[in-house]
Amino acid sequence: METEGVQRTVPVCSLCTEQAVVYQRYINRHLCGTHFTADVEHRVADTIKTRQMISPQDRVAVALSGGKDSTALLLLLQRLLPTWENVRLIAITIDEGIAGYREETIRSAEHLTVRLGIEHHCISFTGLFGDSLDAFLTGRETQACSICGILRKKALVVGAQQAGATKLATGHNLDDEAQSVLMNVFRGDLPRLIRNSSGESSGKFIPRIKPLSLISEKDIATYLMLNDAWNELPECPYTHYAMRREVRSMLSGFEYRHPGTMLHLMESKIKIERYCKGSVISEPLRSCRECGDPCSGDLCQVCLLRHTF
Ligand code: SF4
Ligand code: ZN
Repeated sequence: METEGVQRTVPVCSLCTEQAVVYQRYINRHLCGTHFTADVEHRVADTIKTRQMISPQDRVAVALSGGKDSTALLLLLQRLLPTWENVRLIAITIDEGIAGYREETIRSAEHLTVRLGIEHHCISFTGLFGDSLDAFLTGRETQACSICGILRKKALVVGAQQAGATKLATGHNLDDEAQSVLMNVFRGDLPRLIRNSSGESSGKFIPRIKPLSLISEKDIATYLMLNDAWNELPECPYTHYAMRREVRSMLSGFEYRHPGTMLHLMESKIKIERYCKGSVISEPLRSCRECGDPCSGDLCQVCLLRHTF
């Protein structure tokens, strides 16, 4: 209902005369659907270029869980594909074995790859490690995300190697990255804080890239809605055990009250990375005694974990 004497104005896009659908508080800008989509695609292309994430002839394996971030990542990379020389995309889905959650996201991943005509590989924890995540976690659910993370990282590398990939792209967004910065600070883990997120150059790993690392979770959701790719999916039952959940809620509050906080955190990380370059002593890379994978100790994290099952 209109209040007498007060005229309601519908905001107009700052770049054209269309009605705006998004207000970017941190730069005080309104955008219509077309300009918002173009802005997201431009920012992703710019991150990839600036951080030299993709080179000509690359075969990029995209970690596709079927959730929002990885769906947006695959869509965006597919749209940007014609701007790179002879680059191919392959999607890799990991089935951790989480009852009541994974089945639906895997179906969503399958539909997307069929629709986009992208080669799709699926790797399961049961096939690779002998059992499901649910089984491994019995009695230690509170460690869910750290165990899941270690095993999934390995499964993705195996999938990427099997697919002959030269890069491994993950859908980590700005919120994820800003949360990681804070979590590493809280844990006092400086080497992890300054680990270069644009890839690794020892030649022993397939370089990992995070093209969405400067796009917020909210922008990803809006992008999906505007591009008819929004899909409501169940949440992993183990999320409530994660420390990340607490950090996420704290950071969201900060971002709401002080727009730009997450981008500033990422800028701080990049500055610290530059400042510390060469001055933090990281352990030399060795080979795992049991599986031969590159690692910093005697055993890699996966083999260490396997001893506890
Ligand atoms: Fe794995 Fe934790 Fe993510 Fe669930 S929330 S899929 S357990 S990392
Ligand atoms: Zn090992």
